[in-house]
Amino acid sequence: MTVIAVFNQKGGVGKTTTSLNLLAGIAQRKQRPLGIDLDPQAHLSGTFGIRPRLADDSVYSFFMRQRPLAAVSQITESGVFLCPGHLELTKLDTLLGKSVNVVTRLRGALKSPDAAPGSVVIDCCPLLGILSLNAIFACDLIVIPVSADYLAFQGAQQVERSLNALEPVLKRRLPRRYLLTRFDARRKMSSEVADLMTMAFRVDEICATRIAENVSLAESPARQLDVFRHAPQSSGARDYRALVEELVGAGFIA
Ligand code: ADP
Ligand code: MG
Repeated sequence: MTVIAVFNQKGGVGKTTTSLNLLAGIAQRKQRPLGIDLDPQAHLSGTFGIRPRLADDSVYSFFMRQRPLAAVSQITESGVFLCPGHLELTKLDTLLGKSVNVVTRLRGALKSPDAAPGSVVIDCCPLLGILSLNAIFACDLIVIPVSADYLAFQGAQQVERSLNALEPVLKRRLPRRYLLTRFDARRKMSSEVADLMTMAFRVDEICATRIAENVSLAESPARQLDVFRHAPQSSGARDYRALVEELVGAGFIA
């Protein structure tokens, strides 16, 4: 099993769009990936048409009372198992603290011998609180979407610093890929951010795939669809297909 966390300490950079379409792209390979929505806004869950009324029917109960992830997960029409988020997740930092036991809880569940095989994709919120720390400790790869603007790039630099600060605790360099999203070749800022990325990050840690600005990607959540079902011929579908292929090639997806 490979666990992929999608994280950037900036909002609106394409984390949820990337989580959604990575999951759907993996499902298109005749696999049944598990998506975990660790954002209290629960946009990933909503796009999959899953909105639990009670926090107890979301990943919240996994953290609060050790309910198995499988007990709160549901199959979606995209062929993805989804463990939904809930607004109550905002309370976890205060309720649980940040002890080692707490930040490794998700890792314990996903890496246990009886965990289901297959890929896991975790959609994170922009804060480095207990939820994102759980994702970072549990993951084998962190994908950092950087929408082609300066603030998203700064958020990605912040992630790099945070990951480096965690390295002594993780006892390894966590594999990571910076993913340029909302790229628009006609805009100077897009190529400037692309250049800044090559200066700031290791070249082998920047995805060769770029996700272009594409209206189908922006429309599909409103229709509760992933981009492959909404607009399979769009450039958005093509780009996310290429991303899945790239991660297969790098050994992160079976
Ligand atoms: P985050 O999860 O990081 O907050 P989202 O994935 O929700 O970001 O994306 C923010 C907004 O940008 C959403 O409205 C989404 O539909 C839109 N968006 C994301 N990626 C693209 C893209 N490549 N082209 C056009 N719109 C995009
Ligand atoms: Mg999001």
